[in-house]
Amino acid sequence: MLYLDNAATTPVRREVLEAMWPYLTGTFGNPSSHHTVGEAAAAGLQDARRRIARVLGVRAGDVVFTSGGTEADNLAVKGIALASMSRGRHLVTSPIEHEAVAESVDYLRRLHGFEVTEVPVDRAGRIAPEDFASTLRPDTVLASIMAANNEIGTVQDLTALGAAARSAGVPLHTDAVQAAGWIPLGLDRLGVDALSVSGHKLGAPKGIGFLAVRGAIPLEPLVHGGGQERGRRSGTENVAAAIGLATALELATAEQPEAAGRVAALRDEFIARVLQNVPGAQLTGDPGHRLPGIASFVFPGTSGEAVLLELERRGVVSSSGSACAAGSDEPSAVLLALGLPPEVAQTAVRFSFSAAVTAAELDQAASAVVASVAAVAGLG
Ligand code: PLP
Repeated sequence: MLYLDNAATTPVRREVLEAMWPYLTGTFGNPSSHHTVGEAAAAGLQDARRRIARVLGVRAGDVVFTSGGTEADNLAVKGIALASMSRGRHLVTSPIEHEAVAESVDYLRRLHGFEVTEVPVDRAGRIAPEDFASTLRPDTVLASIMAANNEIGTVQDLTALGAAARSAGVPLHTDAVQAAGWIPLGLDRLGVDALSVSGHKLGAPKGIGFLAVRGAIPLEPLVHGGGQERGRRSGTENVAAAIGLATALELATAEQPEAAGRVAALRDEFIARVLQNVPGAQLTGDPGHRLPGIASFVFPGTSGEAVLLELERRGVVSSSGSACAAGSDEPSAVLLALGLPPEVAQTAVRFSFSAAVTAAELDQAASAVVASVAAVAGLG
């Protein structure tokens, strides 16, 4: 079986599991306990926080552990907006955000009277910095723009967007769940004030993530209780998973410069082969500004779900684009926002690679795509 759905989730890396193991067994304490068993766990948690902070170029206290990417996005969008309501109720976002951001923004609109401006994207899913700048107003309290899209892999020019946000005095949050491991994540480098990451896309377990948020940004907690994470996210921390996430992030950061170039070259060969050999196939997303690990297509005249089933019969596991939308008949909101007709959006198939992908595997995958689309088109 060839697993080409790494944007949905990844297996836990051995180094990650080994780093976690002591904190699941001997060093099992509650990090809030005031005795030696608790203090040992607290030291492990603090070490994880420091290591993540170093990768992001922030202070350890700026890292808030969460249950994953969805919670980190919720905390950023709702937490910053709710803490800033006295300054204004205007939010800026894009039409291609993950549901974790889109639904949080919608909640603020419905229940707290926020006005929302969506910056348009072009047919490749890119935002023009000048369009973004023109949406920012004196009452804008937050802009949230993803670093890279999960369905089409398009990478935004965050540095330019961040510069526009900074000159307007608007905090910028980015969902970096898919970007993590593929592009450098420093907050200064990207020009953002808050950034969400999820462990299970990086070789850490499911159910751990973090929001890195600069100390000066006001943040209203969403989960109330014992005041852990400096009162910003109550609940006993998942110490072992936090250590796993720090380990996975450090490994990915060290490997990224070599992996990104190598995988991008393999991805481009794969894309070229599919476009040359599958009649009517179209690449979705930006051909150049895209994550090394994502190749996404539409195959007009077929059914995306039928192609996925054919591919799986041939030993290739892929996805229609987003794990949540898989199996549903609704066309993807992301693809509709790019201007694709609904009947074409329904033919989407996304292949997402790990850093370990090989040329031989993508050769096999390309042949399977050609055969699968031909089989489905023949049936139609
Ligand atoms: N944001 C993006 C861009 C994602 O791709 C995902 C997961 O698919 C999430 C957020 C949610 O992360 P999690 O699965 O950790 O809740």
